Order: sequence, then C-alpha cells, then structure tokens
Amino acid sequence: MSTNNIDFDNLTFTFTKTRSMYVTKCKQGDNWNSGELVPYGNISISPASTVLNYGQGLFEGMKAYKTEGGRILLFRPEKNAERAAMGCTRLSMPEVPKNVFLEAVKTVVKDNSDYIPPTEQGALYIRPIVFGSAEGLGVAPSTEYTFMVYCSPVGPYFKGGLTPIKLIVSTQYHRAPLKGTGSVKAIGNYVPGMLPSSNAKKEGFAEIIYLDAAEEKYIEEVGAANFFAVIDGKIITPELTGSILPGITRDSVMHIAKEKLGIDVEERRISIDEAMTAEEVFCAGTAAIISPIGSIKYNNKEHIFSNGDVGPITRELYDILTGIQYGNDRDPFGWILEL
Ligand SMILES: *Cc1c(COP(=O)(O)O)cnc(C)c1O
Repeated sequence: MSTNNIDFDNLTFTFTKTRSMYVTKCKQGDNWNSGELVPYGNISISPASTVLNYGQGLFEGMKAYKTEGGRILLFRPEKNAERAAMGCTRLSMPEVPKNVFLEAVKTVVKDNSDYIPPTEQGALYIRPIVFGSAEGLGVAPSTEYTFMVYCSPVGPYFKGGLTPIKLIVSTQYHRAPLKGTGSVKAIGNYVPGMLPSSNAKKEGFAEIIYLDAAEEKYIEEVGAANFFAVIDGKIITPELTGSILPGITRDSVMHIAKEKLGIDVEERRISIDEAMTAEEVFCAGTAAIISPIGSIKYNNKEHIFSNGDVGPITRELYDILTGIQYGNDRDPFGWILEL
C-alpha cells in the first residue's frame, strides 16, 4: 500500500483506507490481551452478533498530528481510553484496559505514520471500536468482544476552516434522554441523528442543535460536538447531566479558558433563549476542533451572531488549542503524547 494516490492538499472529512488496523478479542469473563496489526480490510462476523442485532458497541475518535519537524503527536489519548472504558461498562462489555487501548492506538499510528497529513493540512483520524462479536438470540450481552483500531487521513470537518457555520435548532427530534446512553459513544446514539442532520443540510445548515428531551428548552449539543456561549465575557457550556457526551475538546477548552485566559467558565444549563443573547457561540469536538457559529435558526427566527468574522475569544481558544495540538506551542498542561 502506498500513499502516492492521496491528495494531502485537498483532504476532506471522508474515509481513506490505510495500510493496517489492530484487532484483539476477549471472551466474556476473560481479560483483554494485546492484539495484532493486520492489513486493513473487511472482517467476518456472524449475522446473529449482538452488535448487528442490538447495537452492542461503541467507538472513540481521536487525532494524530505530524509537526513541521516530523514529530508525531497524540492529544490526551488516555482520556479516550477512560471514556471508552466507561462506555464498555454502560454497554455491558468488558472494559478495555488503558494500556491495551493506548498500545493499540500507538501501534496503528506508527505503522501508518506516512498517512498523517503534513502540519495544518489535516490529521490522522483514529477510530477505536469495541463491539459484541458473538451470536446471541436473546437480548443479552455477547459472549465475545472485539476491539479494533483503524485510521484515516482527514481534512477539516466543516468546509472553510474557521468560518462561522449556520445551525438550526431541532424542534422535532432529541439526541438523548437524561438517563439513557448520551454520555457514552454508543453506536446506537448516532444513526437517529442522521435524518435530522441531512434534512438540515438540505436546507443549507451545517448541523442541528439539540434541546434537552425533558423540557425542550436547554441546549444539549451541536450534532456530535459540545456547545459553548460567551455571555458577559464568561464562557457557558451545558453541564454534564447524563445526556451530554463529555467531550475531551470541551474539557480542554474549559482548562484553556480558565488557566490561560483567566476567563470564568460556568457549566450549567443554558436555555436557547439565553444563548441567543451571547456575544460569541461556538462548538467543539475532535473532528471539528472549534467551529464558530454564525447563526442559529429557532422557530422560524434566525439569529445572526456573526457575518463572517470570528469572535475574539473563539479565535484565541482556537489558536491556543491548535497551537498545542499541532506542536507549534509549548504544552503547559501535559496533554501531548509524542510517539
Ligand atoms: C465525540 C463527541 C463529542 C466531542 O467529543 P471530543 O472528545 O471532544 O471529540 C461531542 N458530542 C458527541 C455527541 C460526541 O459523540
């Protein structure tokens, strides 16, 4: 396999296969062992597997960057390992131990390092997945689990880089209820968002904003990214009530705001009406990093936050975060793992 046919100058957020992937299996009741690197390709699975029938599975998403000098950097990968472990417990799967998770990620990135785009043209997106791979007819946990890691070179998630996006609030659909699985990257959480999201895209919006399922009043998330508003110079982000995914980018943005910029951060409920009064709004996640929000449409009214310019706090957070991730700036938090 060669990387000759990859156009690193024009990458988008789409899948490109690479040389290899990592696989290991675990029987229910046993411990996970280290797996092996195999050529990237299809896998074989029983039609009666719990992942195909009941959605017993989760994924993670993280990125490896290549610096100007050719160093390879991972961003807080132990946080993904912790979140995956929590998700395994919630989905009745044996927890993948941190060391097995991290070893798999490092092995895949090293073997596919020539697929990492040059600095600032993109990243190697890494996808760890865990799923029930044995058959079972009743609704019950699988007797065998598979943990795999594959990767793909990617460009920006939203076309146009740091340009404000247009969003619409969904009044028809919710993402996750309070006591469900919204706080883990359960595979079943994502397909319900495809219909509202593609409807919104047909109308010219980049994504959906979801409101809470109980009162339909408070902002939850933006598609698969966390929401932030700057109000009276403070940063507000929805608190982790159980239905919101605890983003690692979200956590990083809060640390940077508090510890590098000296800005107060409040984790609390924020109503859609209050959000409309914000000076700046943006969303954050591994795929999109930080995306400024230019406008939000809610109940037939469109509120414009920006006509193309990026708010000063959004810009500063983006510059500091990407400076650390790309390896251009010092990492005062100890977030970078160099391979
Ligand atoms: C993955 C994800 C995020 C962002 O999490 P990061 O760790 O920052 O990538 C936010 N919301 C949802 C629903 C997600 O799946």
